[in-house]
Amino acid sequence: MACIPVCPEGAIHADADANVLTDFDKCTHCFKCVEECYFNARNPSGKLYTVSTLFKEVMKDEVVFRTSGGGVTLSGGEPTQHKEFCVELLKRLRHERIHTAVETCGYAKWENLKEIAAYTDLFLYDIKAVDAKLHMKWTGVDNSLILENAQKLAGMGAKMIIRVPLITDVNDDENEFGKIARFAAGLDGVSEMHILPFHQIGSSKYEMTGSMYEMHDWPEQSTEKAQQCKKLAENAGLRVSIGGSGFVQD
Ligand code: SF4
Repeated sequence: MACIPVCPEGAIHADADANVLTDFDKCTHCFKCVEECYFNARNPSGKLYTVSTLFKEVMKDEVVFRTSGGGVTLSGGEPTQHKEFCVELLKRLRHERIHTAVETCGYAKWENLKEIAAYTDLFLYDIKAVDAKLHMKWTGVDNSLILENAQKLAGMGAKMIIRVPLITDVNDDENEFGKIARFAAGLDGVSEMHILPFHQIGSSKYEMTGSMYEMHDWPEQSTEKAQQCKKLAENAGLRVSIGGSGFVQD
């Protein structure tokens, strides 16, 4: 419990069973508790970078990018929330002719996406649901902006792969997944989809960061269902990979 007295924000306390708890609303990420912890039980999961330091870090792999035809993917979180940073980094990568990809949920101001698109070779674009009510129920936000942005990006010729987190009993029925597949296939120039079956592998991260995880008991996506959805998307005219890798657009 050495971390408790060093926290300047009083964000750490122990409960009656000696569990050390952190109030992340109070935490200012000074990491004094990390320095003080004798057993490395507390670790920062992330690091602050300037554009220049991150660019230098990324360019350490330049040879790999050039020999493999690979590149850099900005993911998150949500990169479009950090538009200025992303644009600056993408510009530098473009200048070096390194392939760039951006993973996004699409819930972003169009101006931000448009600016990012100017320096992005490929978007990995999430579509979770096309049905407005279903989307609102499970994500808490309206999906019209997401769908409109997808159409605008496709309309301006951006290369896109549509990614669908396939969640058991949420969007994996024939009706909803069929809508997603038809929407994706109807986007100008889009021919590819990644199906990402829901799993529990990342659940412990929520605990580590003090976040609520409400899907503990949710069943993982079955291979059979994922295959059925793949077939539906293929019938809509898309090339489909399960698991998020595979084809790369020309
Ligand atoms: S990182 Fe957060 S919890 Fe740790 S000492 Fe600083 S304010 Fe307190």
